Amino acid sequence: MITPVLPTYNRAPIAFVEGKGSWLTAEDGSRYLDMGAGIAVNVLGHAAPELVEAMTAQAAKLWHVSNVYRIPEQEKLATALVEATFADTVFFTNSGTEAAELAVKMVRKYWYEKGQPDRIEIFAFDGAFHGRSAAAIAASGAEKMVKGFGPLLPGFARLAFGDIDGLKAITDKTAAVMIEPMQGEGGIRVAPDAFLKALRAACDETGALLVFDEVQCGVGRTGKLFAHEWFGVTPDIMMVAKGIGGGFPLGAVLATEDAASGMVVGTHGSTYGGNPLGCAIGARVMQIVSDPAFLAEVGRKGAFFRQKLEGLVASHPDVFEEVRGQGLLVGLKCVKPATDVVAAGYAQHVLTIGAADNVVRLLPALNITDEDLAEAVDRLDRAASALA
Ligand SMILES: *Cc1c(COP(=O)(O)O)cnc(C)c1O
Repeated sequence: MITPVLPTYNRAPIAFVEGKGSWLTAEDGSRYLDMGAGIAVNVLGHAAPELVEAMTAQAAKLWHVSNVYRIPEQEKLATALVEATFADTVFFTNSGTEAAELAVKMVRKYWYEKGQPDRIEIFAFDGAFHGRSAAAIAASGAEKMVKGFGPLLPGFARLAFGDIDGLKAITDKTAAVMIEPMQGEGGIRVAPDAFLKALRAACDETGALLVFDEVQCGVGRTGKLFAHEWFGVTPDIMMVAKGIGGGFPLGAVLATEDAASGMVVGTHGSTYGGNPLGCAIGARVMQIVSDPAFLAEVGRKGAFFRQKLEGLVASHPDVFEEVRGQGLLVGLKCVKPATDVVAAGYAQHVLTIGAADNVVRLLPALNITDEDLAEAVDRLDRAASALA
């Protein structure tokens, strides 16, 4: 018999009733160290006092008004994002998937308005994840996401992540290239520096728009506000979500004035996107996370964590193969099945998240303490010993 909740997830039999910082309390009162943060969402931990304050203050004033009116909280967050990035303009969504959907529409409309309506092909990469909408699964093309959902939205093709030679496929017929500078679901795969620079150059030569999906790697996670800053290249369009709301459903598409030029009045909309409540919370997240001192701390913690994890891998070569990632976007490539490692973590009350390529992800709150990072490694050490 089907469950009241549509059974699309293989859920662990744990339910949480409360969270504080990097710790979650389960129904039975036991505590878990959260190294998943709702998949890179709770960037300031659970029940962050600053965000509780921002949310309750706004909730007492105004939750929702339609986008047929000006929304000052939305203008404030958009301005903060524009000032901090390459972008000239922002559209707010409720999720990363919706951001992907708009990015695809923006690309197509751009070429339509430039008098090249047939220029629709968008390249994505193997291992990519852009969400679960019809456009997003067509972009990824991964068998497990697309099978049975055809016919897929046409106009997508795939290139090999990290392969500079493969970029020759980008021509003046290419509408856009969509890529996560650091793949999340794909197994914490960081794009090689020369590859991402070559990709920007290929897009510049052909006019193809470059779309970065920073839904998982953005918003301070790598120690820069956005991961592409490590490479010194900027996109024309960027998708953001997950961390930007700190746990409130919020996403955004950022774009240059030129890339956004087709999106005039009436071409796109959202009932909830950019509501006062979400944007008041997002503005507080941005204010905290974009502080250079905060970002420097993420970098320092990332280095501290990595050093400890290298030790963990060295002492359990039968369980782990390597540490991947940047800052607090971390992957442990496993020798044992990653699902077994995640389960062994549950037994030690440390929460991790599986990914493709047999990787276990560690995506803690960005304000996690050194003590909790060390505690997580101790627990993973016990989990690995139990597996061996
Ligand atoms: C999670 C994710 C998405 C989809 O975001 P949702 O909020 O789940 O719709 C898109 N791209 C990347 C890189 C993601 O990690």
